[in-house]
Amino acid sequence: METIKGIPVSPGISIAEVALLRSDNLRIHRRFVAKEDVESEVRRFEQAARKASRDLEVQIADLGEELMIAAQVLQTHRDMLNDPGLHSDVISRIRDNKFTAAYASSIVLGEYHDRFEQMESEYLSERSHDIRDIERQLLTRILGKRRKPRVFRENVTVVAHNLTPSQTASMAKEMVVGFAVDVGGRTSHTAILARALQVPAVVGLKDASRKVVNGDTLVIDGYTGEVVVNPDKKTLARYRRKARYSEKFYNQLQEEISWPAETIDGHEITLSANIELHEEVATALEWGAKGIGLYRTEFLYDQGFPDEDLHFKAYRKAVKALRGRELVIRTLDAGADKFHEEFVGFEEPNPFLGCRSIRLCLQEQGMFRSQLRAALRVSVFGPVKIMLPMISTIEELRSAKSIIAEVRDELEAEGVEMAPRVPVGIMVEVPSIALIIDRVADEVDFFSIGTNDLVQYSLAVDRVNEHVAHLYQPSHPGILRLIGEVIVASNRAGIQVSICGEMCSEPAYVLLLMGLGLRHFSLSPIAIPTVKRIIRQVTMKEAVEVAEQCLGAEQSSESEEFLARRTSKLLPDFF
Ligand code: PEP
Ligand code: MG
Repeated sequence: METIKGIPVSPGISIAEVALLRSDNLRIHRRFVAKEDVESEVRRFEQAARKASRDLEVQIADLGEELMIAAQVLQTHRDMLNDPGLHSDVISRIRDNKFTAAYASSIVLGEYHDRFEQMESEYLSERSHDIRDIERQLLTRILGKRRKPRVFRENVTVVAHNLTPSQTASMAKEMVVGFAVDVGGRTSHTAILARALQVPAVVGLKDASRKVVNGDTLVIDGYTGEVVVNPDKKTLARYRRKARYSEKFYNQLQEEISWPAETIDGHEITLSANIELHEEVATALEWGAKGIGLYRTEFLYDQGFPDEDLHFKAYRKAVKALRGRELVIRTLDAGADKFHEEFVGFEEPNPFLGCRSIRLCLQEQGMFRSQLRAALRVSVFGPVKIMLPMISTIEELRSAKSIIAEVRDELEAEGVEMAPRVPVGIMVEVPSIALIIDRVADEVDFFSIGTNDLVQYSLAVDRVNEHVAHLYQPSHPGILRLIGEVIVASNRAGIQVSICGEMCSEPAYVLLLMGLGLRHFSLSPIAIPTVKRIIRQVTMKEAVEVAEQCLGAEQSSESEEFLARRTSKLLPDFF
């Protein structure tokens, strides 16, 4: 028996045999064609691209409605395979260098891959896997080796070094009950798809795929990130119990989806969802989200600057899918953990404190205006709000607001229809703005507290650095004071304040945040039913007592212990 620890990305317990998936790396040699064969090599490439695109069409059609996210991944691959830019890059390598179709394709896609991989943003560098996937699909067609989809006859846990999006999507309908993957993080496609498929998954397992063989029994704990290889009898029995409880718990939660998130004494908390792709709206609504409180739009920039039309189409799909519920569009927050070096064109010595997010948008106004035009244009289809990230000074807020006003005037002059009012708010995630929040409250329509960054910037602790992870303390008394100040200022000004940081997805902090006065949470869709379950078992008086206790604590460890004890009474003990 061996236990390996990774990052839990999709909750649940699975126990099944391993099906090890090896990546089918195709070795492509540097080969040339004779001058007179160049045009037939070009045709060979074009035919292969057409066939690979058709293969994808068939897979997309097979996926059906409930697997829309998987289908969307494959659609992106298909669009990329049909992209004229890709075609012209490959064809010029064939014509100019006399490379074979296979070698030219592998060189061009290799370059695309490297460009993505070097991006510092975890989210964007993850997209390099899509490029590898497209390359494999194209090369198998050029070389005439049609890949057969892998068919499983019994329940299996798929273990792989890296699972490409099309591999994950093509297995979607089969007997896969768990995923364990060496690479990847919270925003990798495997994570997004596993959540959409509701299959327990752990990623970031480093070398797990080298530690198992086909037929090993594997336990995946999607709550804690533990993966147990060949568990002994006692461990197996423990996980079987946990699996039964977990299944029962989620079945019960399914029945509670339409129930209000209301305390025993009648205080309602609005639970909205955080999304990164417009396709996630459907999943969010299935989990009972009242709207989208944070639409992270960085994914739209994954292949360079999107034009207004690309923004518009994505936002319109989200607004329409929400059928009258609210959509909060956050403007570009690139930089640091979502860093995209190409945006600024120079190396950032200290990316978290550099030219990122709103700072970048105020410098690159053309790019900012395209996004704002699209956001204002979609307001005609349903309730939309614009949220500005990383505001640290009042000047920044005023500059951004005056650009929004100019864009609105411009659209009006063009005769474009818009909602008469599109509220503009800010994320409170930089301490300097939290400390003067009373002065800012009159200038915005709403606040959303971004604790992921607020904790990072207040405590000077890198949010993605595991060496200082123990210092990343959301319940630090300083953070609680800042949150409290923001709530007081919002209530005084009569504007809405919500929280959209991960803190409100974590069961331990739910009572504390309610007790501090927050009534609007925006969280990861799958966490909504669990958070609701907590809210429905307590009174607001109890929540206020919890908050008072934590505000009075000298250090966060005291609060953490107290919160863990308090929450353990409200949820099954596998949390
Ligand atoms: C935050 O900072 O809390 C937040 C929600 O935004 P992001 O995680 O995208 O930085
Ligand atoms: Mg943030």
